[in-house]
Amino acid sequence: MTEIIRTAEALREKVAGWKRSGMLVGVVPTMGALHEGHLSLARAARAQSDRVIVTVFVNPMQFNNASDLETYPRSEAQDLALLEAEGVDVLFAPGVDEVYPEGFATTVSVSGITEPLEGAFRPGHFDGMATVCTKLFGMTQAGRAFFGEKDWQQLQVVQRFVRDLNIPVRIIGCPTIREEDGLAMSSRNLLLGPTDRALAPLLHREMQAAATQLRAGAQAQPVLDEAKATLLAAGFRDIDYFELRSVDGLRPASDLSQPVRLLAALWLGDVRLIDNIAV
Ligand code: AMP
Repeated sequence: MTEIIRTAEALREKVAGWKRSGMLVGVVPTMGALHEGHLSLARAARAQSDRVIVTVFVNPMQFNNASDLETYPRSEAQDLALLEAEGVDVLFAPGVDEVYPEGFATTVSVSGITEPLEGAFRPGHFDGMATVCTKLFGMTQAGRAFFGEKDWQQLQVVQRFVRDLNIPVRIIGCPTIREEDGLAMSSRNLLLGPTDRALAPLLHREMQAAATQLRAGAQAQPVLDEAKATLLAAGFRDIDYFELRSVDGLRPASDLSQPVRLLAALWLGDVRLIDNIAV
């Protein structure tokens, strides 16, 4: 049975019991509307910890856009059923007031690596994410935390502040899970109408085609420009970024002289899709 816990105090009691028995706690932080991507993290946690907590909290502090927060999909009953099937011990689903009580005044802010890409297009997003994850690590006392490579920059940011703040949790990155047509699974995919849903997998196809050309020695800029032109011509509304970055530190990269990733954020109507692949 998966137990739903809604307060930090009740969670602390539950975790204290586990810790007394020497158990290793794994946590999977999410915003709910769970899909196979989230469940793959829960499975990794199950395999690598004695007890598993999945947190579901749509964190207002990490949304830089009010309508995005309002329309973000929520489906707690279904989430609970999915977690039950995965043998997750606790669904921690606190309310906003539980996480940010009256007088809350602290922000965890990471510099450098948060500045490009998502940081440039979603001001405040990483402060909100880092703050809530710091709180979730404190509340769950987890020894391991599982994050998806789907949000590559987020994974780097979490690793950074965990090291910087000596938080005693090991961060484990897990591969991106995709639909059969290649589209990276995302809760926001539920918001795509049928036409946009049919178009969406082109993003991953173009990213793969670009990566193949780059590996074959093609010059980066023309390859990226051509992929972007194809996506816009096909019906993507806008491209926030579609670029190469170093795996370490996310520095701009113009060739493959170091390990690089191709990272992209695009708008399909009112829905923003992000994806990244190793090159
Ligand atoms: P979210 O609910 O979107 O905040 O995501 C919660 C966690 O699930 C994050 O660590 C994400 O990177 C991860 N995640 C989301 N989508 C996927 C996916 N398609 N494959 C693997 N992990 C994912």
